[in-house]
Parts: sequence; structure tokens; C-alpha cells
Amino acid sequence: MRHPNSMETFKRAAKVIPGGIYGHTSPAATLPEAFPYYAESAQGCRYKDVDGHQYIDFLCGYGTISLGYKHPVVEEAVAKQKEKGTLFNHPTVHQPELAELFTELVNFAQWAVSGKNGSDMTTWAIQVAREHTKRKKILKVKDAYHGVDPWCNASTGGKIPEDTAHIHEFAWNDLNSLEHLLAKYRDEIAAIILTPYHHPTFGDQEMPTPGFHQTIRKLCDEHGIVLILDDIRAGFRLALHGSHTLFGFEPDLACYCKAIGNGYTLSATVGKDHLRIPATKVFLTGSYWNDATAMAASIATLQEMQRIQLPEQLKQIGTQFTTGIQKLATKHGHSVTISGPPALPYLRFTHEHNFLQLQKLCGLAAQEGVILHPHHNWFLSGAHTPEDIDQALAAIDRAFSQLSPNP
Ligand code: PMP
Repeated sequence: MRHPNSMETFKRAAKVIPGGIYGHTSPAATLPEAFPYYAESAQGCRYKDVDGHQYIDFLCGYGTISLGYKHPVVEEAVAKQKEKGTLFNHPTVHQPELAELFTELVNFAQWAVSGKNGSDMTTWAIQVAREHTKRKKILKVKDAYHGVDPWCNASTGGKIPEDTAHIHEFAWNDLNSLEHLLAKYRDEIAAIILTPYHHPTFGDQEMPTPGFHQTIRKLCDEHGIVLILDDIRAGFRLALHGSHTLFGFEPDLACYCKAIGNGYTLSATVGKDHLRIPATKVFLTGSYWNDATAMAASIATLQEMQRIQLPEQLKQIGTQFTTGIQKLATKHGHSVTISGPPALPYLRFTHEHNFLQLQKLCGLAAQEGVILHPHHNWFLSGAHTPEDIDQALAAIDRAFSQLSPNP
């Protein structure tokens, strides 16, 4: 057995935790047996599991590690704040500092607030839109993930029909399906919520067709609808000033999370002035939301990303990685489709209708010391060097050579 300590820990966990491990890190959501279940330590772009195996990581804590594990600049900022304390009865000066930084970085932002998780922000953003418009309906893209709350979570457990009674879906890049909803629910729509490009789990990523965002912006203006950008997954990995700048449009609200704290828990929403008053009316808080260390980490992370021009770096390293994998697939007689930006690529076997071959490849890659997810997009970080990519490609080459040809 390759992971005895993981298994042993999981057995312990299963006695006291429903399901043993829950959510997206559950073994059932990755590759039972092939992937470790528990991590031990990490540095840069590598981590160790509890059985002493080391991996070059292409998941980066599901995107939360943007600069690299234990990045010295971020760790120093956190250590400095920790000396003073972590959480107090009041926010620290980091709160306005962080908001100032967001309003400097994101061109349309006139204010910013922060929370802990992405879902805190998307759910709050739709409430702000409802408060501003005094309307009920929210339009979202089919198969787009916006968090765990019942209005947007596809899981059926514990949900009631009323949770989604005012949530309506249109298809990515299909303006006709959007216009159909606009005609049907005219004057009832509070917000349209969108990701910068489409990144569904279990499916190819799709970039916007030319004019997609711009048309939606125009329609929102015509109908008095709030346009919310959910930039939680891609934010600051694609563009230094938010992903909307890459696609040439301006939302009214944008939500960020994954990249902005380099592993320290922070999410944020930025907005335009006309939503400032509604923003004060939707109660926004949580026991740990004033955590000063996470805010210090986020300020350091955002500044470091700007200094090293992270998006350009990720584009280069991601392109080296994805073109390398394409070549390896061809060399071994396989056809793979890689979609989305190189900083967050998604791979599948072109002719596969299930994920079996891909799961085998990811399992073999894990044995060879590389973590690739079999049905979620991958993430690159500022810690991946060209040499790390070469090493990872050599390991993936070995994995491909053990994979049987396409069935
Ligand atoms: N929106 C998007 C696009 C996401 O990728 C995620 C997290 N995967 C969320 C919202 C929810 O964020 P969180 O899990 O931090 O609540």
C-alpha cells in the first residue's frame, strides 16, 4: 500500500467526521488510493504527504497558493502582524489599507470589503444587487460554480425549491438564451453573475466569444441590472488589475478570493459608487473576518504579484507546461484537448466519454511525483520555475509510458 498513514488517518477520521473528509478534498472527489488523503508540509511548488511522498503541485491548494507555499514576503508580513496579535475587538489599519489597495488595483473599484471564503462574497454580492434594484431575480450561467450556498450549489442535499425559485440559467456564450430570460423576466432581474471565462468542473473551459461580455454589459445598463463578476478562481492569475481588463469590460461588482492571500484566508468584493449605500445595508460580518494576519498576508501577496508581474510569469510557465504535455501525449499516441488560459489549464483525452483514461494518467503521474487533477482545472503558481516544469514533464512522460493506448 502506497499511503498507509493516509489510510490510517482516514479510518480515524471516518469515526468522528461524517464522510471522513468532506467537500472538494474528499477522496471521492479526486482519486481514491492513487492520491494521498492528507498533507504534511509544503514549500514553493512542492508538498509532502503524510507518507513522505513528495509532489510537484499543479493544484496549488485549489488555487489559493498563487505565489508559492510559504512565500517569504507573505510569511514575513504575517509574522510581523502575529507579534501584535491576530484578532481584536476592532479591525486594524490593515482593513482600510487593503481596501485602498483594491481600489488602486481594480480600475472600476471605488470601494472594497473583505470576507473569508468566495461564497461569502458571491452571496453577499447578489444581496447587494437585490437591495439596490429591489428586484428578486438573478441570472447565472448553467454549470458555473459560484459557491456552496443553496442559491447556486448544484448539490441537492438539504435544498428546497424556494432556494432557486428566483435563479435562472442561460448558456455560456449564448446571448439568445440570455435575451430570452430578459424578455421573460423584464423588470424583475436584480443581477447577472458571470465568471470571466467559463470554467465548469468536468468540462472544457470556454473563453468568451468576441462581444459576449460587452453585450451583457450593454443589456445590464439598458435594463438597470447589476453585473457581478465572479473572479474568485481566476482573479489576479490572468491580469494584474482583475480578469475583466483582459476581456475589455467593467462589471459593477467583482468578487475575488483564491489568489489574493497566498494561502491565508481572505476573500474580497469591490464595487462601483452607486452600490456603496446598498452595500452598507446588507449585513456583512463573521467571527473571524477581522483577522489581521490574513489582511497583512493579502496586502503582501497583492503587492508581490504586481512586483513580479505574476500573470505574465504564469502565462509563460503555463504555456511551457501545456505545450509540453501536448507533445508528450502525441509522442505516446494519445490525443488530448487542453482548454482555458495556460495559468489555469484543463485537460481531457479528446475522444474519451468518461474520465477513466484521464484518471489513470493522473494516478500514474501522482506515483511519479506530480499532482494533476482528473476533472478540475489545474493551477500554476509564481513558485513554478522552468526547471520544475521540465521535471514535471519528465515525470508525466513516465506516466504516459505506463498508460495503455486509447481503449
Ligand atoms: N466562485 C468560483 C468561480 C469558484 O471557483 C469558487 C471556489 N471554487 C467559489 C466561487 C466559491 O469559493 P469558496 O469555496 O471559497 O467559498
